[in-house]
Amino acid sequence: MSTEKIHVTQPFLPPLEEFLPYVEEIWRNRMLTNGGPLHQRLEHDLAEYLGVKHLALFNNGTIALITALQALDLKGEVITTPFSFVATANALIWHKNTPVFADIDPVTLNLDPASIEAAITPRTSAILPVHCYGNPCDMEAIRDIADRHGLKVIYDAAHAFGVHNEAGSILERGDLSTLSLHATKVFNTFEGGAVICRDVEMKTRIDQLKNFGIIDETTITIAGSNGKMSEIHAAMGLAQLPHIDACIARRGEIDAAYRAALKDMPGLTPLPKLGQTRANYAYFPVIVGDDYPLDRDALYEVLREGNILTRRYFHPLLSGLPMYSDLLSAAPSGLPVATAMAQRVLCLPIFPAMTDSNLHRIIDALRAPLQDAHRSRLRAVGA
Ligand SMILES: *Cc1c(COP(=O)(O)O)cnc(C)c1O
Repeated sequence: MSTEKIHVTQPFLPPLEEFLPYVEEIWRNRMLTNGGPLHQRLEHDLAEYLGVKHLALFNNGTIALITALQALDLKGEVITTPFSFVATANALIWHKNTPVFADIDPVTLNLDPASIEAAITPRTSAILPVHCYGNPCDMEAIRDIADRHGLKVIYDAAHAFGVHNEAGSILERGDLSTLSLHATKVFNTFEGGAVICRDVEMKTRIDQLKNFGIIDETTITIAGSNGKMSEIHAAMGLAQLPHIDACIARRGEIDAAYRAALKDMPGLTPLPKLGQTRANYAYFPVIVGDDYPLDRDALYEVLREGNILTRRYFHPLLSGLPMYSDLLSAAPSGLPVATAMAQRVLCLPIFPAMTDSNLHRIIDALRAPLQDAHRSRLRAVGA
């Protein structure tokens, strides 16, 4: 029996010989950061690949998110999801906004528009939804709510690299969208992030904010941070971009194999892929139902004993963390769907370098508890 550890993800690395020429270029240019030539090329090539007009690269997705809040000068309360990575809500704290948690939809696990609307108060300035697992939010309903109440919308699109719906890239929706290019994401620059915006004025403002707020040598009018992506990080992006379609295609094969295998496994239901013409297969979440012989945590443990390292994204809910749990909106009674789903969801390993034999090892491990349960039922009836 193989004991090789299978992690929930594994970063894609381009061939080293394709990365090194960029390193040599940096040594020749002696330009290490501050919007150098590789940074400029990656901004251009990524915007083209993603099908967006304006994209500003960042040193990570969290600073991208905080800068997006700053760029829109958001005050007061921001409605967001408890079902996300902790950076989503932490960004609001760093910008001195109050997170207000709304509940999620039971099918998409994205913010439920009715719950957003119910959370609006006179202090609400914006909505911060997450395209969880890369599945698009109900963007029409969210835009309608934002328009009627005069709210801004920032999409945390950290999971949604390259995702399209029938209207094109979903990264051009809302006022701003942010990406993470962290090592664990579909497309990585070791660490990195981006803000996608609609016009060149906003792009200029964001570029100033990520460079301390500097407008020119003697003019600094706003306290920006340092969110710049370095040349070596941009080099990683440039070396990776030619491979990204193949990476996503391999993820798609794994996604399809899981879905086919899970069809005859009662109690394990993959999240449906809705509303996208191009998916990125960033995650493979399954919902562990009552008709599976093990509950979610028991399945997580059994798989871990077999060196299959799944993740319970997103458990615990952000609303349950000590820095948020005292908020009125954090009460589990107001978040029944998120509370229930956080107990049932399990993300299975998916990454481009996964071998078919490891994929089958995972599928067999998911089927084993069902076979055990079946055998003991047969024994019970004396068959
Ligand atoms: C990864 C992630 C972030 C943060 O990105 P970093 O680049 O790691 O700072 C933000 N939001 C979500 C939903 C994420 O998954």
